[in-house]
Amino acid sequence: MTHWKKILQNSINSPAELTRHFDIDDTVLEATCASFPMRINSYYLGLIQSVNDPLWKQAVPDPMELNDSICIPDPLAEEHLSPVPNLVHKYPDRVLFLVASECAMYCRFCTRKRKVGTPSMLITEESIEAGIRYIREHKKIREVLISGGDPLLLSDRKLDSLLTRLRAIPTVEVIRIGTRIPCTLPMRVTKKLARMLKKHHPLYINTHFNHPRELTTEAIQACELLANAGIPLGCQTVLLKGVNDDPLILKELFLGLLRMRVKPYYLFQGDLTRGTNHFRTHTQNGIKIMRQLIGTISGMAIPTFALDAPGGKGKIPLTPNYILSSNKELSFRNYSGKLCSYPENGDPI
Ligand SMILES: *Cc1c(COP(=O)(O)O)cnc(C)c1O
Ligand code: SF4
Repeated sequence: MTHWKKILQNSINSPAELTRHFDIDDTVLEATCASFPMRINSYYLGLIQSVNDPLWKQAVPDPMELNDSICIPDPLAEEHLSPVPNLVHKYPDRVLFLVASECAMYCRFCTRKRKVGTPSMLITEESIEAGIRYIREHKKIREVLISGGDPLLLSDRKLDSLLTRLRAIPTVEVIRIGTRIPCTLPMRVTKKLARMLKKHHPLYINTHFNHPRELTTEAIQACELLANAGIPLGCQTVLLKGVNDDPLILKELFLGLLRMRVKPYYLFQGDLTRGTNHFRTHTQNGIKIMRQLIGTISGMAIPTFALDAPGGKGKIPLTPNYILSSNKELSFRNYSGKLCSYPENGDPI
């Protein structure tokens, strides 16, 4: 068995197993695990330093997950926007194609918590074939976003076959893979995987790191293999209360990612997914953090802070407001708070 498969097999799947590593009362977590799956592989477990640290909070079930009366199972209306199972067509020119039901870890804040890692997420060769057929028949689809679950948990052979079939569709210009593997199980990124992915360019990968302590030697190596295969790397971070809702932590994360050739792409406001309400912060907190970062660090390290609008209405950028007034002259505050203005020319169109 390969190295990464052993690590995955060595996952903790129940609170009782946690007591071998941490001094906690596991019985209070049992009910949570009955509703939402738990998986912490031995690599990510090794990154947790103490109970309730930022990595613990992402990985270990919390009774608060069951104490969520505000949120709903599918806030982005993904099921409603699926013309065929496991394919979400929300925007005119791109689709989200769910091709795997498992992840290397089940993140407590997952937006697809309702189904990821549960039997209700049924992905079969038939559902994948139906998705490919839909993409082939809808010629306006320029980009396919492969997600799940985690697509990089598929075998090299299965993933190669899927990418080959998508590449054979002339109207598909770009393929994008969404994966948390470089963060949660970086040893899955082997030289063989990188060599296979390289055949399917233009291929982009958006990964998902939330805390600077996740930027380990192993994660750096995984991203290096992918970047050296010519794959542009982006990162989709989720703003999480008690994990990374702090400008200094996000600054360290974004600058660290940039050094790894990973471009911070989105910083997401928490979705209204049932079981995740304890992670949500006020949108103003995120906007305030962005205001502190924009201009003070490289623009390359700045993601777009956005929320995914309830009901599948799409992503809405949440940007600090720099404009104070606009008329014949646009006046605003710059990144350091200084007042300045810009004379306009003519009338707006
Ligand atoms: C987020 C998302 C996309 C991709 O949006 P981008 O802004 O291009 O990153 C596409 N489809 C669905 C359903 C999404 O949720
Ligand atoms: S890796 Fe992504 S899809 Fe999987 S549990 Fe974590 S957030 Fe959800």
